[in-house]
Amino acid sequence: MAIPSLTLTDGHRIPQVGFGVFRVDPDQTERIVTDALEAGYRHIDTAALYGNEEGVGRALAASGIARDELFVTTKLWNDRQAGDEPLAAIDESLERLGLESVDLYLVHWPAPARGTYLNAWEKLVEIRDAGKARSIGVSNHLPEHIREIAAATGVTPAVDQIELHPAYQQRDVTDACAALGIRVEAWGPLGQGKYPLLEETPVVAAAAAHGVSPAQVVLRWHIQQGHIVFPKSTHPDRIRENLDVFGFALTSAEQDAITALDRGGSVSKHPSEVN
Ligand code: NDP
Repeated sequence: MAIPSLTLTDGHRIPQVGFGVFRVDPDQTERIVTDALEAGYRHIDTAALYGNEEGVGRALAASGIARDELFVTTKLWNDRQAGDEPLAAIDESLERLGLESVDLYLVHWPAPARGTYLNAWEKLVEIRDAGKARSIGVSNHLPEHIREIAAATGVTPAVDQIELHPAYQQRDVTDACAALGIRVEAWGPLGQGKYPLLEETPVVAAAAAHGVSPAQVVLRWHIQQGHIVFPKSTHPDRIRENLDVFGFALTSAEQDAITALDRGGSVSKHPSEVN
């Protein structure tokens, strides 16, 4: 089944489901991304921090898939936000990826103690204007960070990529994004396997009702919420399963029961603490 795409505020389109490569071993990345591309994924989410952009790039090159059918995201790490560092960092990422441009470039964290996220955003605007990133956005940014950078530059991020799964829905951030037309990308869509999300009663019940796995139910919940997701797996069967989420739909009662699992259960540090 074709993967639906969503329109970003800048008019470009993004496949709603992609493949994430956080904690994918650099030595395994080419093989695992190749598995994902063969399964039908066309959207890959990586970051300079992950140390595996080269493996992603090798898999993309070897696939023979046309560049305009692929959607590649990478991210600027916190220690490259100051001065002209972002301009060097994107060139290094593009070199490792073997690409002339990425489809989406993100400021990975606001890292407020550094005091450089506004500078980073100004440089991302330059990077976009130079044609090295088609769209630009942010990650782990809180509403106050987004309002500040948008007001200072007149450029609203296309996305905010935040931790988001049923136990941690960050309504304050998603409401602010909705008001500004910013698409929400849900990282850790399966809760990184750090809490028993896949054993929650409404998840298990919906899985039984639709004859799918609990992970497919959670991913389908995200899709029906309008989130962009890129679950990570190193297992070919799970890689295929996680993309096979368009052949069923959750009822509004099933959707609401999963939404009711929200309890502020973050699996990560708060953005104010990551610098
Ligand atoms: P996910 O929520 O995608 O969870 C991945 C975990 O779930 C792995 O342990 C994986 O195990 C397991 N899993 C995957 N599929 C299934 C399945 N079908 N059934 C059961 N278990 C499954 O966590 P991520 O942190 O990887 O988030 C996804 C992506 O988001 C990242 O890869 C990265 O691209 C991005 N991200 C961005 C961050 C940011 O700060 N911007 C932070 C963290 C992530 P296994 O591999 O063994 O299958």
